[in-house]
Amino acid sequence: MTGALSLPQWSVGADAGAPPPAPESIHGHGTLRDAHGRTIRDLRISLTDRCNFRCVYCMEPDVRFAEPSTLLRADEFVRLGSVAASLGIRRIRLTGGEPTLHPDLGSIARGLREATGCELALTTNGARGDAATVADWRRHGIDRVTVSLDTLDPDRFARLTRSRTPLADVLSCIEHCILEDLGPVKVNVVLLRDRNDDEAVAFAELARRLAIEVRFIEWMPLDSGRTWRSDHWVSASETRRRIEAAHPLVAEPTADPSATATTFRFADGERGRVGFIAPISSPFCGACSRLRLTADGKVRPCLFSDREWDLRPLLRGGGSDEDLRRFLVDAAWSKQAGHGIDAPDFVPPPRPMSAIGG
Ligand code: SAM
Ligand code: SF4
Repeated sequence: MTGALSLPQWSVGADAGAPPPAPESIHGHGTLRDAHGRTIRDLRISLTDRCNFRCVYCMEPDVRFAEPSTLLRADEFVRLGSVAASLGIRRIRLTGGEPTLHPDLGSIARGLREATGCELALTTNGARGDAATVADWRRHGIDRVTVSLDTLDPDRFARLTRSRTPLADVLSCIEHCILEDLGPVKVNVVLLRDRNDDEAVAFAELARRLAIEVRFIEWMPLDSGRTWRSDHWVSASETRRRIEAAHPLVAEPTADPSATATTFRFADGERGRVGFIAPISSPFCGACSRLRLTADGKVRPCLFSDREWDLRPLLRGGGSDEDLRRFLVDAAWSKQAGHGIDAPDFVPPPRPMSAIGG
């Protein structure tokens, strides 16, 4: 195998220099803004591109991962989080790949918490969330947890995740998160045609039973195997119709315009909520407040961006905090107006979701 072929598939084609400079007046504001009038308040940090699952809509069994030496160290994540917070970042989400595989998750969370004071959230597949571990997440300063789960049937769970983790482990992780008050606890669900789209109502009932928010995410063409097909895709409106037929819903007012989900409570007053994240059928880019940092130190202005900016040379080459601040301001300024997925010439980005951080 040649060196080029042993690189992760997505390392080819991505633009990874430094971002073009933002106007000098923007640097004076001390916040992260883009050229479309949006202020950036949310940072998603991918701690690793590795995962113990191979969900069929996300990662192929033979996916290749980044070289460990290219990944940021715990202190580098904390330093970047702290610089970002000095520019107005208020919420940080740790994700991946599977962030709980990172051996330093605890110290990174603690470090970020102490250095930034930001609200800290974690997105996990829940496979490693036993009672003691979830209590540790809380102790390390994590405020909120989102657990991803796409089926309530044990056999289907094995087929969809291509893992040996019992479904019961993920369900108990959700319950431990509720007990530890890591909430509002959310469950992310991706529905696929003829694989699990018949479970929309069952998930709404899980939301009612546990008084949590279940969020249905439309499948995006960001899987490592490029298997996305529109006939396997299920729209948020179809899912909502299915749920409404069993449990009428009432729309909730959106307190945060940058929220990705539109949320509903149950008309009969039962606890719990459902949310719909519809990046394909109803893009929500207008109020997007997110910037992403990948595990290998690339700043991505958008999930679907074909541009990303490499912070590692600056970070490892003696760059000062002020240099890093300038870099982040420039990167945020380059954020595109929208993800363009509805454009006829749309091409998915070279990196899959698992290497960006969902
Ligand atoms: N491994 C963790 C997990 O599954 O929660 C964190 C990373 S995962 C990439 C974050 C979220 O992205 C999960 O809720 C997952 O279901 C979702 N996701 C992954 N690939 C997706 C895709 N192609 N389209 C839509 N959502 C996707
Ligand atoms: Fe892993 Fe999360 Fe992707 Fe599933 S969705 S393969 S758990 S990164």
